[in-house]
This record gives sequence, structure tokens and C-alpha cells, in this order.
Amino acid sequence: MTAPINGRHYLAGQWHAAAGETFASTNPARLSEAIGVFPLGTKANADEAVAAARRVFPSWRRRSRILRAELFDNLAQIVKCETDKLAQLMARESGKVITECRAEVVEGLHMIQYVFGTGRMPMGDVLSSEIAEKDAFMRRKPWGVAAVITPWNFPFAVPLWMLGPSLVEGNTVVFKPSEDTPAIGQRIVELFEEAGFPPGVINLVHGEAQAGEALVRNTGVNCVLFTGSYEVGKHIAEISASIADRIVASETGSKSAVIVCEDAKLDLAVTSGLISAFKTSGQRCVSAGRILVHEKLLNAYAEKLVAVTRRLRIGDPLDSNNFTGPLINKSAVEKVERYNALAKEEGAEVLLQGGRMIERQYADGCFLSPHIYRIKHGPKTRCIREEVFGPHLALIPFKDNEEAARIYNDTEYGLSLAVITENYRTMRWFRDECDYGMGYVNLPCIGAEVHLPFGGVKKSGNGHPSAAGLIEAVTHKTAWTVNHAEEVKMAQGLTTEVR
Ligand code: NAD
Repeated sequence: MTAPINGRHYLAGQWHAAAGETFASTNPARLSEAIGVFPLGTKANADEAVAAARRVFPSWRRRSRILRAELFDNLAQIVKCETDKLAQLMARESGKVITECRAEVVEGLHMIQYVFGTGRMPMGDVLSSEIAEKDAFMRRKPWGVAAVITPWNFPFAVPLWMLGPSLVEGNTVVFKPSEDTPAIGQRIVELFEEAGFPPGVINLVHGEAQAGEALVRNTGVNCVLFTGSYEVGKHIAEISASIADRIVASETGSKSAVIVCEDAKLDLAVTSGLISAFKTSGQRCVSAGRILVHEKLLNAYAEKLVAVTRRLRIGDPLDSNNFTGPLINKSAVEKVERYNALAKEEGAEVLLQGGRMIERQYADGCFLSPHIYRIKHGPKTRCIREEVFGPHLALIPFKDNEEAARIYNDTEYGLSLAVITENYRTMRWFRDECDYGMGYVNLPCIGAEVHLPFGGVKKSGNGHPSAAGLIEAVTHKTAWTVNHAEEVKMAQGLTTEVR
């Protein structure tokens, strides 16, 4: 067994062991296995980290954008060599199966490579002016200090979606990883240090809500980049509303869905539904808690989906034959169980009863089997509206495309949508009528790529996409105008005559 990790904050280029309270990270597949012990960040730690990031911001901003980007090339080389080790650590700490962890490291690597590439790409526009002798430009400037606050379920890729664009554009950062995955968070910062990022440019504070909130309340933070639950995102936005010189980019939860149309190819629809609902045990922000199925197809679809789900291999995340692993912790298991019971109270016809897996190999972990039910859409039914974040799936019948779009939109979220159809008019109808940030056709509703915008609407996000799209949040656009005439000339015919 690997020795537990000694958790440390990273402030102004120095590693600091716990001086006060600590918290433990454990393997959700075997709760008796410790991953590490980490310092519980305080307001003082958060303030020290922000001060360090502020101090170094002027020199980091002045460095050539291309040289900043080249450090990401160093980072890419290190991550390539470390892929397997990173994936193993992630699988042990997050409970995600090793194949998914490897794919996540690759996604993080793609973000690093993308950021390196942007170093030599345009970072503004040349614009024309009414006055022929004027040159006008749109140039981007960094905000200053960014606080990066991340969830546990993508502990490598999501931090890199935020750290990459922030740093290459000249911001400095304080990173607070999830308290459920601090080891992988710490490893990311160690890799940045190995890649040669100067002291203070990236700082790490471990901890829970207290550390995160201290960062948000610190007026030295110009930019809060948050991914996590809607409730925490809303709280961060409320605090930030009273702080001048503050921007918040918030990516939050969802009740994403797959729509299986009357003409859908059944096998493709079943595979897409299964992956959307049960990959990562339903713990992706884009996981489908709902599959809307045309009423004529519902019986055949349900029968096939349940049969395939029964065969899914659930178990040790380090075994690459397993489709999925445990949930992240005990309270996640309890939450899903509450929603399984609620669905029954709300009239669900259970097709596959989910529940705790208690056999010997599961006994020490947070394993839960998938729950599938059939339910009519109703205006107050909570189980088909609220984010469950686990293997909990509703099959909802619909009569026609108009009704399907209405049901799809009838939640407070709008993150991801998949439509399964052979008809280009049907596809276009859903593309234009539904509220979402990411839409897919004849695919699962999961499957981000870093160069595409990643974000949602309504309660799913505040309109600042992550990954490549984050450049809009971590820079502000400036107009820069230069006069080449010998005299002052103004636009709109404004006179310059001075009597
Ligand atoms: P969470 O909201 O519980 O925690 C996210 C982060 O916020 C953690 O680092 C946590 O310590 C911190 N935090 C908690 N309270 C805080 C406070 N008061 N002030 C500042 N920071 C605080 O989320 P989680 O359980 O880690 O992740 C699951 C949620 O994340 C789900 O809702 C999921 O849909 C969402 N998510 C969204 C996306 C997306 O891109 N839209 C991606 C991944 C996960």
C-alpha cells in the first residue's frame, strides 16, 4: 500500500505543513485506506496566498506572453511522463475508474497544449477608425489575481481549464481544490513548480468552505473562477456583488437529458443513454438524470436499457474492466437513496431497483447500484427536476417533438442535451428550442473537448464558459487608439477648434 501523502499549502513558492487543524482524504472504494492528511486552510492562509499572488502579479504580467506560454510546454512534457501515476492517484482518491482517470489526464494535457499554442496566437484585434490617420486596437489585459475553486469530480481537468487560461493571460492565481480530492490538487501544483512557474504565480490553499469563502471575501481577488454546486455558486455571486473590481465565472449543476425520438436507432440510443446516465456513477455535471423517450419506443427502450444496465461491472476503480466505481462519499450515497425513495412517492414505476452494494468486495466502500424508473412528466415532480448526482435515472414518455422540448426545458437548469434521431428537421427543432450550453446529436450528453466552449444557462452557469472559452472571463478588453496625424482629429465630426 502507498504511504499516505503529507498535505501542504503552497504559498509564495514555499511548502507549508499543517500548523493547526487537518483533514483526511480516503479512498471511496475502501474507506479504511488513507490517501493523505491535509492542512485545513484558514482565513489567514487564504489572505497570505492572495497577498503572495498580488505581489508577483506586476512582474508576471510584464513577462512576454510567449514566454509565459512556453512554461506550459514544460508542463505538458512532465504530464505526459506522469499520465499513469496521475491516473492511479485520481482513481484511488476520487473513485473514478482508471480508464476515465486516464482520459481525464489526457483532457488536462490537451488544455495545457492548447494554452501553450495560444501563446503565439493573436490576443486582440486591429480595428478601423473613422479617422484615416488613427490606428485602433482591441487589446486584452489580465484582471489581476484569480481564485480558482474546484469540485471533486474532475479534479485534474477542471482546475487546468481554469489555471491554464488565467496564467497564460498574465493573471496570478490561488487554487483551492475540493476537500474530497486534495492529493490530486496538490500534485497539480507540484507539477507547475517542476515546470518552472515562478514563486507566487500559483499558490495552493487546502481546505473546506471556510478557506474557499475567505478567498471569495478577500477584496484582493479580482476574479473568482468557480465550478461546483449551484448553491455554493450563488453564495459566491452574492458575496461578490458587493465587491468592486470583481468578476465571477460560475459553472454549476444540471438535470441534463437525452431525447430519444421516434425514428431513433435503438442500439445507438441505448448506448448513448447508458453512458450519459451511469458513467462516473452519474456524478458528472452533465450526467443525464432524465431520458425522454417517444411513447411508441418506450417499452422496447426500457427493456433493453435495463438489460444492459444489469450487466454493468461495478467495482474497484483500479480494475480497467469495471465500467464504474463507487460514489465519492457516504453522504452522496445517502442523498441518492433519498431521491430513489422520493421517486417512488412521486409515482415512479421502478424498472431496476438501485441500492447499497454490501457484498464483501463492496462492504468498505461507497458503492451504489443504478436505479431506473419510468414516470410521467408532472409540473411539481421533484425527482425529474432536481440534480441527484448519482446513478438515478428517470425514463419519461413524450408524444411529439413539441412536448419533448417543453419537458426538457421544464427544469431550472440548462447544461447538456443529446438528441437521438435520423431526421435533420427534428435535430434542428431541438437545437433551437432547448436551453443548454452543450448539445449533441446521436451521441451521449457527455464528452467535452477543451477547444469547445463548456458552460450552461439558467442555474447551470452564469455565461462564462470554461476551458478555451474562459479567456473572456480572465481578461478585460481595452481599446487602444493611436493618432498619426500632426493635429488632433476627432470622430463623429467633433470640432477641435479652440478659440
Ligand atoms: P461543491 O459546491 O460542494 O464544492 C465545490 C468547491 O466549492 C469545493 O472546493 C468546496 O470546498 C468549495 N466551497 C464550498 N463552500 C464554499 C463557500 N461557502 N465559499 C467558497 N467555496 C466553497 O461541489 P462538489 O460536490 O465538489 O461538486 C459537485 C457539483 O459540481 C455538482 O453540482 C456538479 O454538477 C458541479 N459541477 C459542475 C461542472 C460544470 O462545469 N458545470 C463541472 C463539474 C462539477
